[in-house]
Amino acid sequence: MEEIPVKVAVRIRPLLCKEILHNHQVCVRVIPNTQQIIIGRDRVFTFDFVFGKNSTQDEVYNTCIKPLVLSLIEGYNVTVFAYGQTGSGKTYTIGGGHVASVVEGQKGIIPRAIQEIFQNISENPSTDFKIKVSYIEVYKEDLRDLLELETSMKDLHIREDEKGNTVIVGAKECQVESADEVMSLLEMGNAARHTGTTQMNEHSSRSHAIFTISICQVEKNTEAAEDGSWCSRRHIVSKFHFVDLAGSERVMKTGNTGERFKESIQINSGLLALGNVISALGDPRRKSSHIPYRDAKITRLLKDSLGGSAKTVMITCVSPSSLNFDESLNSLKYANRARNIRNKPILNFSPESDRMDEMEFEIKLLREALQSQQASSMSQTSQIHREETPDNRILFLEEQVAQLQGECLGYQNCIEEAFTLLVELKDAVRLNQKQQHKLQEWFNMTQEVRKSILTSFRGSRGIGNLEEGPQHITVIQLKRELKKCQCALAADEVVFNKKELEVKELKNQVQMMVQENKEHVLSLKEAQKVNRLQNEKIIEQQLLLDQMSEELTKLNLSMTSSAKETCGDGPDARIPEKRPYTVPFDTRLGHYICIPARSDARKVYTSPSVYSLDRVVAGFRTRSQMLLGHIEEQDEVLHCQFSDNSDEESEGQEKSEIGHQSHSWIQKPGSVCSLVELNDIHDQTQKSSLENEDLKVECLQESQELNLQKLRNSELILTEAKQKMRELTININMKEDLIKELMKTGNSIL
Ligand code: ADP
Ligand code: MG
Repeated sequence: MEEIPVKVAVRIRPLLCKEILHNHQVCVRVIPNTQQIIIGRDRVFTFDFVFGKNSTQDEVYNTCIKPLVLSLIEGYNVTVFAYGQTGSGKTYTIGGGHVASVVEGQKGIIPRAIQEIFQNISENPSTDFKIKVSYIEVYKEDLRDLLELETSMKDLHIREDEKGNTVIVGAKECQVESADEVMSLLEMGNAARHTGTTQMNEHSSRSHAIFTISICQVEKNTEAAEDGSWCSRRHIVSKFHFVDLAGSERVMKTGNTGERFKESIQINSGLLALGNVISALGDPRRKSSHIPYRDAKITRLLKDSLGGSAKTVMITCVSPSSLNFDESLNSLKYANRARNIRNKPILNFSPESDRMDEMEFEIKLLREALQSQQASSMSQTSQIHREETPDNRILFLEEQVAQLQGECLGYQNCIEEAFTLLVELKDAVRLNQKQQHKLQEWFNMTQEVRKSILTSFRGSRGIGNLEEGPQHITVIQLKRELKKCQCALAADEVVFNKKELEVKELKNQVQMMVQENKEHVLSLKEAQKVNRLQNEKIIEQQLLLDQMSEELTKLNLSMTSSAKETCGDGPDARIPEKRPYTVPFDTRLGHYICIPARSDARKVYTSPSVYSLDRVVAGFRTRSQMLLGHIEEQDEVLHCQFSDNSDEESEGQEKSEIGHQSHSWIQKPGSVCSLVELNDIHDQTQKSSLENEDLKVECLQESQELNLQKLRNSELILTEAKQKMRELTININMKEDLIKELMKTGNSIL
């Protein structure tokens, strides 16, 4: 990579009107016909370009900048920066002032460069140009976007891209189509730039400004692309930085105070850092040492331009006034050092372009790989599919063997025919010795091949000869079919086994259910048995009750007759015919109370087996109710008959306790009276016998209640058993249906 030095130009501005008025003396001159400048009496400096007080903007541009524009179009990053004291003519030279108001001849470098760039674009129709513009200023060590003033300085960052180029992340890049568009952006940025009035310059730039034009060039069409090949169009991205530095100044001379003073400090520190960088880069002894780019923002931004990969021109502006001698001398020293800086300019290809090239190459390789893979996969497709299972692999190999055997057979036939033909020709045609030798060799070779084929076939097949080929193919095919059938059969067997297992399970379930059913039937029978026994017991008890009631009736009758004998005729003679009762009397109960009703009840009890369960239960209920009524009746009667006067006294209390009973007493006052009267004539013997009877009745009542409870329980069991029976029957029916269906499907599969 070629190293080129930073080109340094020195421009001496003319004395300003103000300076002429103040009779300033000129202390810096250009030595005519040389590139030298003399300052003071004898300090001579040589530079790449020197411009005197009468130099024009056009001259400066053509000499220093035009080559840079050409380099930019070629693809190099280029930089021009103006350095010098405040009011030395930096902004004037760069063209960063109010460009719109400047006359054509006075236009600085930027407007001229813009013009030329667009002229180049219009002259180069085979290339697509994409132009972007950005404008940044460094004010008091802070970055500021002059094209987007709203952008916060915190959002602007100086970074290095993968190629080591300095970039400002977050800066607005305006894409432009024409020179006018760029000029208006420049104007806009200039207007936003920090300037201030100092004693040395009415419009002193208080910041370093960097105006950047980025050019992306794409070749419109290439011959390589015409043939449809993968060759890409070339992308070139290059940048032109126009740097207008803030002026170096002596605070005393500028008369700055307050904010201006602070600005001056910042400006000077930035320029000091730039001076250090230039010194470091320009000093041959410090070449390999550290370059303090990071000391200031401006040095970081100019890293590519100073000692980097850009082509750079430094224009040092000096004031001719002897009043500024020291500053001018310093600037010239500064400029002189900068001449030692060497850059290594490189052509820029956009990273996208490089990546594109890489990708296109990759695509090419992939395409080739794909093509070769497609070719191989075409032949292997069937193999890949068949290799899924070992069986398929065997089938595939068998197929291949058969195919090869077929081919071999064909070749063998050809060779046989050729062999016989050549044997005939050997005798018929005259051959020279060489030909005869060759033919003999062929015969020998053919014989060997024939032998080897025969042995290999016998070895592999064990029996037969080559004529077995077609039969062998048929056998293979048949084998294949057999295998298929065997596979299908195995699958069917699996299905059958499954079905058989299912049927077995279902049969087991049915058996279990039948067993359960049997158990339920048994429990039902037992319940019925218990029921029958209880019925019988109830009947016995009823009989006993009937007997007792009969006895009671008799006793009553005897008592009544004895009473009649004692008291004569009375209204109570009707008592035995119509007894008092506590439960409402109805026809249903009536016939049970009467003696003929017993014969009816007996009819039912003698043949319980012929009745259905429901009827038995219904009968039970009826009888139990009847019995209850009867017992109560007995109880009431006895109670009424044998209660004494004290009972009468506590009648009101009884009423509240057993309202229903007392109610019945009220209904039959006549009978009560007769019984009370009877009590008076009652002897002790009769009384004790009656008490015994009462106890018996109570016992019977208790046992009756117990029996009723048992009856209810057995009824409940019976209902449950019935329910279970019903459920089981439904379940069995369902299972039977299922078995039938399974049998049907099994038959259909068979
Ligand atoms: P700087 O930017 O270095 O502070 P300016 O570019 O603002 O200085 O120039 C200061 C003044 O000098 C301006 O009025 C400008 O017009 C004038 N000036 C600078 N250089 C020249 C020149 N070569 N010819 C005529 N006038 C100049
Ligand atoms: Mg300026």
